[in-house]
Amino acid sequence: QNSKRMMVAGNWKMNGNLEMLSHFKSSLPVFENIDVVLCVPSVYIKEAVGANFSVGAQDCSEHESGAYTGDISLSMLAELGAEHVIIGHSERRQAYSETNERVAIKAEKALENGFVPIVCVGEPLEVRESGNVFEFVGEQLAAILNRCKQQLDKLVIAYEPIWAIGTGKTASPEQAQEVHAFIRSELKKSSELYSQISILYGGSVTDVNAAELFAQHDIDGALVGGASLKVDSFKIICEHA
Ligand code: PEP
Repeated sequence: QNSKRMMVAGNWKMNGNLEMLSHFKSSLPVFENIDVVLCVPSVYIKEAVGANFSVGAQDCSEHESGAYTGDISLSMLAELGAEHVIIGHSERRQAYSETNERVAIKAEKALENGFVPIVCVGEPLEVRESGNVFEFVGEQLAAILNRCKQQLDKLVIAYEPIWAIGTGKTASPEQAQEVHAFIRSELKKSSELYSQISILYGGSVTDVNAAELFAQHDIDGALVGGASLKVDSFKIICEHA
């Protein structure tokens, strides 16, 4: 088990409703020794604040204001009470063509605005099969580290192999640990605080497999999609952290 403070962050994606949120607010207990974050659709952030968990957004604009129809700025998210923000989720990288550089700029802006950015990296299946995982993840990471050098200790990295997201196919603890150790070694090159930066694993984490993932040396928690929609499963995952 890791000696560092662990984080479990739920990513509701475009799911949930006010009734479900109210159930989470009344059912999730206080977890004293870990950081529990629920990243809800932005329209629910204000309603989510004030329970036993911190609240995060799932994306943000890199701009402060202007003609960006549909986008939401970091200052707006802060006004609602969000303290965390997921950046560069593979669904946004794929469906909205977010590049490594744009993800890095968003992470930089999030730090400047006092947020804890949970920045996602991770390879598609063909990259894993061709044996180029470190090269691929290394490039994603380099863009982020270049821009965020000043406040690296506030950054959270989430390693989410795309082939494991929403597929029920979890990376084995050893597969995940191997990439987490690589990420840690890259962080070490950029910051003396490398050991304090949380590296979460994401990809089909459940109440059944969480414990063995959390037992890995460089896994400091989880970013949880599907299993964060059921309060009982999410609670058990938090209990394992
Ligand atoms: C995610 O979307 O960040 C995720 C990890 O999803 P799931 O847990 O459903 O694989």
